Amino acid sequence: MELRIPLSDLDFGPEEEQAVLDVLRRRWLTMGAITQEFEKEFADFVGANNAIAVSNGTDALHLAALALGIGPGDEVIVPALTFVATANAVLYTNAEVHFADIIGDENLNVSPQEIEKQITSQTKAIFLVHYGGYPCRMPEIVEIARCHNLVIVEDAAHAPGAAIDDRSLGTWGDIGCFSFFSNKNLATGEGGMVVTNRDDLAAKVRSLRSHGMTTLTWDRYHGHAYTYDVVALGHNYRIDEIRSALGLVQLHKLAKNNARRQVITARYRQGIKGKEFAGVELPFLNSTGVSSCHIFPILLPEDADRQVFMDAMRARGIQTSIHYPPIHHFSYYRKRYPGISLPITEAVARREVTLPLYPTLKDTDVDYVIVSSSEALTVARSCAANPVPDSV
Ligand SMILES: *Cc1c(COP(=O)(O)O)cnc(C)c1O
Repeated sequence: MELRIPLSDLDFGPEEEQAVLDVLRRRWLTMGAITQEFEKEFADFVGANNAIAVSNGTDALHLAALALGIGPGDEVIVPALTFVATANAVLYTNAEVHFADIIGDENLNVSPQEIEKQITSQTKAIFLVHYGGYPCRMPEIVEIARCHNLVIVEDAAHAPGAAIDDRSLGTWGDIGCFSFFSNKNLATGEGGMVVTNRDDLAAKVRSLRSHGMTTLTWDRYHGHAYTYDVVALGHNYRIDEIRSALGLVQLHKLAKNNARRQVITARYRQGIKGKEFAGVELPFLNSTGVSSCHIFPILLPEDADRQVFMDAMRARGIQTSIHYPPIHHFSYYRKRYPGISLPITEAVARREVTLPLYPTLKDTDVDYVIVSSSEALTVARSCAANPVPDSV
């Protein structure tokens, strides 16, 4: 069957097309005035002193780790129920990760108590992920970090526009990292942003983003500088003007689109209840703060077969996904960190399915996903009750 409802979809229109065309006609493609404008507006939007645009969210996390001086001999606490980039960024610096378990079925974010259990004399930092755009327990985690003299990096890839007590996610820790990958709330294809209130860290990130050089091509072209020095081993993690232009238009739509995501989330929650959904759990019902509602995760009942559920949804033209296969189960991580057990993460990861969520999803589509989910669940339950051998 043809895909009727994808997992996510872009909200791109004439404004995005015009913005890209304008860049092409200005004939300046690499980082310049539009990137500066994007950085300034993004900094204002989250309420940070500094925003530095980069090539993607993974590079944002890597630069955060480098700017904080994380390196060999250091340990960093990270959740395992996240995209692999959160942990990879730490390993790039030759530091080691320690995985912390999540809170539970009702909240898929990292548990402050489990963070504390992972702290050793080598621990340098905590890398947090605001799963689905739902805030981690920041006041508690900030207090733990303060007591143990640890720095905090927020992987806010899911969370542009999310907040606790009017303070944006990404600005609670020392550094916040955003991703503008095409399925994120603010999409530029590839792209990312580092935000921080600490000017010392911002200067390091800016320098390391561009080879550790002291001036930019832009400055030299405009006669602000004629030569440069290289003061650190940096990278080329720059964004470009085309993507910054897309980012600006998308940023202007973000509040409206996040509001629509919240309405859709509420509609799902209203529809996914009652007898036909017995045993299904909806995480984050009691989450505090404002969510950016990046994805809509559900936990299937223990007696349902997830693959059968996802296939039955696909047969109805609906794409679903899994967020996430836990990082410590990947071959590379199994080999590097054998024998790790995270019981709550593992139990949740076995049952999780993500339903479609994007701002242009219509109410009638949401209702169709809900009805289809209840049908798919019936199929998935009867299959699990009568398991078919693999050879059939
Ligand atoms: C998307 C994502 C990233 C990586 O961002 P890229 O821009 O794809 O490099 C990192 N962490 C999380 C939680 C993500 O969802």
